[in-house]
Amino acid sequence: MPYDRPTVAFVGTGVMGASMARHLLEAGFPLVVYNRTRAKAEALIAAGARWADSAGEAASMADMTITMVGYPHDVEEVYLASRGIIERAPAGALLIDMTTSTPSLAVRIAQAAAARGLSALDAPVSGGDVGARNATLTIMVGGDEAAFERALPLFEVMGKTITRMGGPGAGQHAKMANQIGIAGTMLGLVEALQYAKAAGLDLARVHAALSGGGANSWSWGAYGPRILAGDFEPGFFVKHFVKDLRIALEEARALGLDLPGLELAERLYSLLQDSGGAELGTQALWLLYERGLQGAASEPAGS
Ligand code: NAP
Repeated sequence: MPYDRPTVAFVGTGVMGASMARHLLEAGFPLVVYNRTRAKAEALIAAGARWADSAGEAASMADMTITMVGYPHDVEEVYLASRGIIERAPAGALLIDMTTSTPSLAVRIAQAAAARGLSALDAPVSGGDVGARNATLTIMVGGDEAAFERALPLFEVMGKTITRMGGPGAGQHAKMANQIGIAGTMLGLVEALQYAKAAGLDLARVHAALSGGGANSWSWGAYGPRILAGDFEPGFFVKHFVKDLRIALEEARALGLDLPGLELAERLYSLLQDSGGAELGTQALWLLYERGLQGAASEPAGS
């Protein structure tokens, strides 16, 4: 084990976090892990990570703490609760939240961290489960330059395109721009294939041919084959995409922006979530169209 590597605590070893933590372990970073459900950390423990009994305990054992949990309320709990990460991290520690969360919470965490002599970054990612497995994530970072430079060796183990966007919260704003883009490409993917199917075309041939054309996108390449194979497992949970679309809508409204495409995506994905699709992958939007939209596209959310 190299001696120059700081000890890293990793909190949240789900679909994304398990792969990201594994890359850090394989790169020689001494690793401490904590996850709400211990079973999802067992493979990392078997590979050499140490287990901690809480997020706060994990942070107390490390120079740097990374979190990759689910929702903003999870982020708030692991950082700001009594005996949480902010309270228990050693002075000088660097805290990096890679969850997709709200810009305002990132600012609150950065302020609470600074008040205790800690540094904090928001660093959400894009690239999906495949990007996490292949260490090719796009990482969008908010926080000060010195903290960013300190975190860079960790980011380089997990991702390929790593960009500091500005101060605290700027990483989350960039991630919202990313999710607004994905909202459009997911609708485009599903509607293009729905049209091809209705026209009696061979979907596999259409998908392959259009992959070389203007309809291609990251969503087209990552999720088209899963739709064709009838694979609706996550990937990227519908429930998390709904969370992201709602954060994006709220932030857009706060900026005085009207984004009707984003509103439509939020309505359709909410419908999918509320009709039993929450735990499926985002490509399951296909199933909503297969069932018939029943006016969903023109009715207000919640109707
Ligand atoms: P996930 O599989 O649900 O992983 C989240 C993990 O965090 C779960 O294992 C969960 O524990 C754990 N967790 C939640 N709250 C916790 C707490 N308070 N203390 C300790 N552990 C806690 O979800 P994911 O797909 O990895 O996504 C994680 C985040 O990345 C989400 O914000 C998502 O929007 C974002 N994201 C996902 C993708 C993707 O393609 N999957 C891509 C980019 C960004 P349990 O095991 O008990 O549930």
